[in-house]
Amino acid sequence: MTRALMSNYSQTQHRPPFLSVVVPFFNESDTLPTCHTALIEILDRFPHSSEIVYIDDGSSDDSWLKVQGFRSDRHTVRALRLSRNFGKECALSAGLKAATGQAVIPFDADLQDPPDCIPVMVEAWQSGFDVVEMQRNERLGETFFKRFTAKLFYKTLSALSDADIHENVGDFRLMDRKVIDVVNQMPERNRFMKGLLAWPGFRRKVLTFQRAPRTAGSTKWNYLKLGQLAIEGITSFSTKPLRLATVAGLVTSFSAFVYSLIVLTKTIIWGDPVAGYPSMLIVILLIGGIQLLSIGLLGEYVGRLFLESKQRPLYVVMEDLSHPPEDLPQHT
Ligand code: UDP
Ligand code: MG
Repeated sequence: MTRALMSNYSQTQHRPPFLSVVVPFFNESDTLPTCHTALIEILDRFPHSSEIVYIDDGSSDDSWLKVQGFRSDRHTVRALRLSRNFGKECALSAGLKAATGQAVIPFDADLQDPPDCIPVMVEAWQSGFDVVEMQRNERLGETFFKRFTAKLFYKTLSALSDADIHENVGDFRLMDRKVIDVVNQMPERNRFMKGLLAWPGFRRKVLTFQRAPRTAGSTKWNYLKLGQLAIEGITSFSTKPLRLATVAGLVTSFSAFVYSLIVLTKTIIWGDPVAGYPSMLIVILLIGGIQLLSIGLLGEYVGRLFLESKQRPLYVVMEDLSHPPEDLPQHT
């Protein structure tokens, strides 16, 4: 190797990768090869060397076998394997921690987020934005009910939460190193990613794109999981529901007080025998309902405190492979 090549080589070794594309996956054996080819094709368009970080979230098919064989001549390919299925949020957190690039893009292995958007995101980043969020303008291949519930969720969340979470923006976004450093410092066990990624703020830009239907395999989300995510999103980013319980308590107590005055006056002045079985039942059920709801709500927060206080690791990495660019000296 010549001296010039040697110095070039060592320079590249020390410079952080230009981009890190973080791909968490769970049983995506069908789409992973297409995903890898598409990512390499896009990353090759930039003059600098980048990095792809794959995180196997405990897949039970042959996804890990396939990922182990992925290489690139210009980019580093890393593959992390978690010890079991920890869920997408934890897998993504593992990837964000492992990523070393100057900017990081989370990317779904099912190719629902078009890789073609990456150059546009990079352009916006280079023009001075720290976060480039990709907003879906239409949800192709999703049912009316899913679209409706998603809209309801964002509306409730933005009304209740403190972080500025934009509607229809998923994990697909570009984040500058300084944003990622903040995100990596957030230790909470309840990983509501949309909220965590929005929390640091910085200069943000929203671009719109069309989200494609899945190319193969099926989504691992169901309504139960989505419902849990919604509760998690709201309770981990806002204590306003607790205040809502207090307000509901105040309103019912006040109404009960006024109503009791009316009943008392009626009885004392007109000697009206109080025949109020239906109204009594309604009041008892109403107050009982509000009480149970408030206790449940309190329980949500106490449960969260319990989980946070255990301070368990978010995920466990079982294998960590790193394949540097195969013929680096020719391509710097
Ligand atoms: N995923 C994961 N762990 C899981 C579930 C999903 O790493 O427990 C990955 C999945 O393989 C995909 C991404 O997270 O790469 C998004 O998942 P999916 O397509 O099921 O969700 P959606 O696109 O409906 O949000
Ligand atoms: Mg998907």
